[in-house]
Amino acid sequence: MQTRLQVAVQKSGRLLEGSLKLLKECGIRVDNGKDQLKASAGNFPIDILYLRNSDIPQYVEDGVADIGIIGENTAFEKQKHIDTVLPLGFSKCRLSIAVPKNTAYPGPAFLNGKRIATSYPNSLRHYLDAHRLNAEIHEISGSVEIAPNIGLADAICDLVSSGSTLFKNGLEEKEVVLKSEACIVAQPKLGAEKQAILDKLVFRIEAVLKARNNKYILMNAPDEKVAEIIRVLPGMKSPTVMPLAEKGWSSIHTVIEESHFWDIIDQLKDSGAQGILVVPIEKMII
Ligand code: AMP
Repeated sequence: MQTRLQVAVQKSGRLLEGSLKLLKECGIRVDNGKDQLKASAGNFPIDILYLRNSDIPQYVEDGVADIGIIGENTAFEKQKHIDTVLPLGFSKCRLSIAVPKNTAYPGPAFLNGKRIATSYPNSLRHYLDAHRLNAEIHEISGSVEIAPNIGLADAICDLVSSGSTLFKNGLEEKEVVLKSEACIVAQPKLGAEKQAILDKLVFRIEAVLKARNNKYILMNAPDEKVAEIIRVLPGMKSPTVMPLAEKGWSSIHTVIEESHFWDIIDQLKDSGAQGILVVPIEKMII
């Protein structure tokens, strides 16, 4: 029987949509029925196991799953013997300590002797120890942000992305304990055949992630402006320059990171670029 890699993804919650979207963009078709706990990919040797996010590190350590897609913060919190293979660029958030608005907060020393509510006791303990702080950790499993309002804690330690939940609950973010994004974790000792499947999967994912961050850009310019425009472009390699049908004009093509594009757009226009097109890239292999 052909070896198949067992891939654990979150059964429901924030990571599920991003995980399945990424596999789809890698050309992997997962045929799953509703409420199914296991599904097979039709065109790639992986099976998908739908599990609770917080259980995935244990399943990967035990070898029930070979790899998993979880938040880096979950991997850190659970302290299992698993390897982090690749950050995936979605579900970016931070584990932060927040206190009620208008609290006089001179710095982390404020936390000494205070009660901090969290669902991530190990990560918080690590932070407190590293900063030689002595606080009481109150572990609660959900709705951490209401703890100060009901007198259960003086501060909280919870995941934050936009900060709107903190804001709605009258809390202010003060310290970042760790930053996190979705990642692939793996069994440290995968056999050679499973490792080969993981390598193929990682190759595809890297091509998708690179493409997401980069854009193909095209623009026209008078020939005498081409050298100046090329100096502005931070492209992958040397840009392509092609003559236009209209004499004295060229078309310049290159690939750049989207964030760079916004930095240089004004310089491009000032250098004489016209008709600038920005085109998404589906896969990028370099
Ligand atoms: P959940 O779906 O709430 O169980 O969260 C699963 C994982 O999603 C967490 O372990 C984090 O890695 C990530 N996550 C949680 N909250 C957020 C957030 N506010 N923004 C982005 N990612 C988050």
